[in-house]
Amino acid sequence: YEAKRRHGGVCAYDPSLDTGDTSRLTLQSELRQGIERGELVVFYQPKIDVATRRPCGAEALVRWQHPTRGLLGPDAFIPLAEESGLIDMVTADVLDQALAQLGRWTELGHQLPVSVNVPARSLTDEAFPETIVAALARHGVPPKLLTLEMTESAVVTDMERAGEVLRRLREHGVHISIDDFGTGYSSIAHLRDMPPHELKIDRSFVMKMCENSRDETIVRAVVDLAKNLRLRVVAEGVENEDALRALGDLGCDEAQGYHISRPLPAAELTAWLGRSEMAITAG
Ligand code: C2E
Ligand code: MG
Ligand code: MG
Ligand code: MG
Repeated sequence: YEAKRRHGGVCAYDPSLDTGDTSRLTLQSELRQGIERGELVVFYQPKIDVATRRPCGAEALVRWQHPTRGLLGPDAFIPLAEESGLIDMVTADVLDQALAQLGRWTELGHQLPVSVNVPARSLTDEAFPETIVAALARHGVPPKLLTLEMTESAVVTDMERAGEVLRRLREHGVHISIDDFGTGYSSIAHLRDMPPHELKIDRSFVMKMCENSRDETIVRAVVDLAKNLRLRVVAEGVENEDALRALGDLGCDEAQGYHISRPLPAAELTAWLGRSEMAITAG
């Protein structure tokens, strides 16, 4: 249990899941079934406003409660879902659960915007904005309370269509974030051609920013870039108080990481929100 705890409550990546076509196909059909049976579970990791330290949002992070393999983290099945086209079902399920949860938090008096992860290739689906808008309407959630965190795990070839889909999402009032900024295929050109509302600095730059001056320089540069472009900037992977303070000095808006809280089941995050409000009132 402790070993699981250290990995944010999920099993570490199991390389046996990646061997051979047979087990991949097995896992693929298990995933389809699993989604239909409601085996996807959403954990939530809070974000805080760096200046006030108040909770200012939560990121929905999917896990798969596999019938025999235990609780699997996204790295164990998201790449497979992306290859097999099941990713749209995953996105729809996570979105649905996250918006329902947002509604419950609202009823409890917590105004908590929620972020959902979406692979950039979904932007080549022209029906995507309508899917999002329909889900918001179904749950009665104002669009501005939803942020879509775009991750690029592959090159998006049809940039023109992606730009159009993003533009329509923005028009509807949904917020757009570029996740893992500075890694993978995410490009500075997007900031010019498809401006987001928010940049999320990849955790690989943030985790050791107080020990590694190159990391700190990169974080500073991204914060400055975001500020100059009038974008909000979020640091993920904040693992200690030094990093949180340093981010405050650099003017970073929001922080997320193990130092603040690990990703938690919804009920545990509700309790965490209650405690953090008491701490703020007391302080
Ligand atoms: P991400 O969107 O960049 O999410 C942040 C990841 O960093 C999460 O891993 C979180 O548990 C981890 N993390 C948070 N704080 C810290 C910290 O202080 N230190 C360290 N070392 N790690 C921290 P997780 O939950 O395993 O998710 C991994 C990735 O899987 C996510 O990266 C995201 O790209 C993807 N993912 C998660 N949920 C979904 C989903 O519903 N749909 C899609 N398409 N992808 C998802
Ligand atoms: Mg994310
Ligand atoms: Mg990220
Ligand atoms: Mg990341």
